[in-house]
Amino acid sequence: MRVKEALERYREMLAEIDRRCAELRRRYNPRMPCGYECNLCCLNTATLFISAVEAFHLREGIERLPREVRNAVFEGARRASRRILELGKHPKDLTREEAVEILRGRGEGICPLLIGGVCACYDHRPIICRLWGYPIDTGGRVVCCEKTFPPEKLDELEPIPYHRYWEEAQRLSRELLGFDRSYPMCYMILTVCYLPLKAIKPLFDKTGG
Ligand code: SF4
Ligand code: SF4
Repeated sequence: MRVKEALERYREMLAEIDRRCAELRRRYNPRMPCGYECNLCCLNTATLFISAVEAFHLREGIERLPREVRNAVFEGARRASRRILELGKHPKDLTREEAVEILRGRGEGICPLLIGGVCACYDHRPIICRLWGYPIDTGGRVVCCEKTFPPEKLDELEPIPYHRYWEEAQRLSRELLGFDRSYPMCYMILTVCYLPLKAIKPLFDKTGG
């Protein structure tokens, strides 16, 4: 696994994403209540699919947290995983469609990183968390939260090509880290963000990940 190289490339991509977001804020001065007034987007994301390179980046953020906060993050991920097992599935086997629905409306579905109502790893949050709230192209469809950019402005905004960044994150994960697919956040937190580096690759080799 070429973790260092993958993270370097990923950080370059994040810098580009952050630049595009800053440019949209500069041009349109939207209301962005995300994170301090509103955290609706974080309430069903324990099973959000993330790529391996996003998970390795998250690992860096989690390592820097105070121990109690870090433990709370791992406990949140365990709660979500336990509930999924009780519902008869294994987190690593969920399809994206199943992952979206399986914990919807349950406390265990809340993102393990949402501590005290705020994101504990804001600087290391996954790509979609950086972009949700901005007009994004998901690959043929432009979506945007109505609380941020006014819907009537959508036609004149140039959306950020989320699908391109997501594909690039998956490519880095595949070519540099050896992951053929993405997994729910709770599973990634308990494996990529938790285990010693040398224990990660065999785990995913074994599961066909
Ligand atoms: S990583 Fe942070 S921003 Fe993303 S869903 Fe979790 S708490 Fe919310
Ligand atoms: S994107 Fe919209 S729903 Fe999500 S946290 Fe921001 S304001 Fe709330």
